[in-house]
Amino acid sequence: MGDGVSSWRREQRGGHCWLIVGLEPQADAVRRCSGCGESASAIHDCTTRRIRDLPVFDDSVELQVPRLRLACVHCGPRLEHLDWLDAHARVTRRLAENVARLCTATSIVHAARWFGLNWKTVNAIDFRHLERTLGPVDLAGVTVIAMDEFAIQKGHRYATVVVEPERKRVLWVGRGRSRAEVRPFFELLGSEGCHRLRAVAMDMNTAYDLEVKQHCPNAEVVYDLFHVVAKYGREVIDRGAGRRGQSAARRQVRSPGGQDVTLAAAAQPRERPSEQAVKLDELLAANGALLTVYLLKDDLKRLWRYRHAGWAKRFWHDWKQRALDSGLEPLKVFVRRLEPYLPGILAHCRWPLGTNLVEGINNKIKVIKRMAYGYRDDAYFFLKIRAAFPGLG
Ligand SMILES: [Zn+2]
Repeated sequence: MGDGVSSWRREQRGGHCWLIVGLEPQADAVRRCSGCGESASAIHDCTTRRIRDLPVFDDSVELQVPRLRLACVHCGPRLEHLDWLDAHARVTRRLAENVARLCTATSIVHAARWFGLNWKTVNAIDFRHLERTLGPVDLAGVTVIAMDEFAIQKGHRYATVVVEPERKRVLWVGRGRSRAEVRPFFELLGSEGCHRLRAVAMDMNTAYDLEVKQHCPNAEVVYDLFHVVAKYGREVIDRGAGRRGQSAARRQVRSPGGQDVTLAAAAQPRERPSEQAVKLDELLAANGALLTVYLLKDDLKRLWRYRHAGWAKRFWHDWKQRALDSGLEPLKVFVRRLEPYLPGILAHCRWPLGTNLVEGINNKIKVIKRMAYGYRDDAYFFLKIRAAFPGLG
């Protein structure tokens, strides 16, 4: 580097100890232009900049750096190139690298506190670092993708993530979940890339399938296990039989005296008044419904284990019959709603995509969202998601 230490002192600022290091230009240094990289010796002007560096023990460190503009014969007045300090950075490169490293494991708020930096500075450092290290995504050779939506803010705003299951990497993240909002991905993929796509896994309750059919004539839509089971949870267990069964069960296991009646005690109806015995029948009926609903849920998952569509189809008809025979209304509704999607469910036999990745990304996004509290920066949030699934290389 073209500077040497000319002074240093310690001082207190806001109850914290600082090491202030003054640098000065060395007369014999070889300097290079930041524009063309050629050496240039004539100095156009000099401004002293305050630059943060890595802490020394417990002291925060501030460098007072003479920032030179060289009179380059090719470029005119240009900043001197320094290996350790980017053009308009306010922290040294090594501090920026350490900040970015800490940001892979914790929130920018914590990283800012650790290094005694403003969170906006940390945000900017990590953003630049991610942009530089991730670069533009390579979509060459992609034949199978999975698309999924997630809530950005407590279900008010949504975003879409596109992943390549085979290489476990995030290809694209964008705001919204409508056809128009996911179109930029297919534009990025290009006509050739769209024709190359063979399968797209997704949730049933989205508009993605229409967009896929429009752009990707060779792609099959596949409905994955994770979303179908989640739909079952919402429509049958939460809203339907399960909820009613549970609340009926909860009502019944409270005795009039207020103390809980255990199932073991309830199983001895002769020791109870006849009124209690009637309630016990209701309790058992409610629990029966609950048991049916949970058993059918576990069973439904088996549909995704088949590798031959014929067997999968037979299994579905068997499952459907048992669901209808249960006499539970939410199950009947679920069957009626799911059946039109059967071709897309059976398509998984040809495209057995691990559903763990979609579930894993869903969970990871929740963690990143929690860590990103305190600011609303979608672009940064999306970069963090890409960085969390960079691919297997
Ligand atoms: Zn130059």
